[in-house]
Amino acid sequence: MNALPASHGHRPLNAVLISEVGPRDGLQSVKATMPTAHKLLWIDALVAAGLREIEVGSFVPARLLPQMADVAEVVRHALTHAGVTVMALAPNLRGAEVALAAGVHKVTLPVSASAAHSLANVRKTREAMVEEVRAVAQLRDAQAPGMLVEVGLSTAFGCTLQGVVPEDDVIWLAGLCAEAGADEVGLSDTTGMANPAQVRRLFTRLHAELGDKAGAAHMHNTRGLGLANCLAAYDVGVRTFDASLGGLGGCPYAPGASGNVVTEDLVFMFEAMGIATGVDLERLMAARAPLQAGLPGEPVYGMTPEAGLPKGWVQR
Ligand code: ZN
Repeated sequence: MNALPASHGHRPLNAVLISEVGPRDGLQSVKATMPTAHKLLWIDALVAAGLREIEVGSFVPARLLPQMADVAEVVRHALTHAGVTVMALAPNLRGAEVALAAGVHKVTLPVSASAAHSLANVRKTREAMVEEVRAVAQLRDAQAPGMLVEVGLSTAFGCTLQGVVPEDDVIWLAGLCAEAGADEVGLSDTTGMANPAQVRRLFTRLHAELGDKAGAAHMHNTRGLGLANCLAAYDVGVRTFDASLGGLGGCPYAPGASGNVVTEDLVFMFEAMGIATGVDLERLMAARAPLQAGLPGEPVYGMTPEAGLPKGWVQR
């Protein structure tokens, strides 16, 4: 078990943490498999740009997601970068056991806020997933007390199967996950249905319910509201934001739109506002090269890389 970087959790009030999810969320959404050597070069470039938390893969059986068959090796490599929180997704206790053995600093479990999505996606009820969170937290307590357990509440803002997801359901489930031992519970707009007013309401309630355990905003840009939703979340106190370099993965429902919020655009927004991200934009844009080399022909997105940095741009 590797110790968490000492800087973790000690950011100035007006700074944000950008959690890069491309190597997990992006890569598992595209058909092609990025060769391991390219994944490692891409992660090195992300670290060089200043990203301090990277979700590097998913601990799922390779027969389900061949793109993630090398996840343990990718984790091992990412751990050689001091000061970077190495994070991976695990869908259940079994996945978390392998992730823990690989030495991740932080494991993230997806729990659906929508009852219908939970059954369709993991064939488990939401309550059964809370028990999975409890089992992972107990494993952490017994074997790796330094490892963080995060829950991302997917479909928190709406669901393609059941439509509206009641806000009371989201807050109820967040409370259960925190009580089950999760260190952080974040909200994910898996389906790109969120709007800024809803984001303000739900994150305000989440903070009231969970205090310090209220976690990241994971926004999608399916309908063009990704950045607006991130800003709304920032305004009500969220300081950790998931994003994907080049918006990798796209959105199957909205051709031309990225799925995840584009890291380059999100960093540009915050830096332009004087809100420190710790990420160097020029180097961040340079990190697109190893991504594209590893996935030739795969579309990447982003308005800032397209337009370039404004004349006279000086990053503080
Ligand atoms: Zn996503």
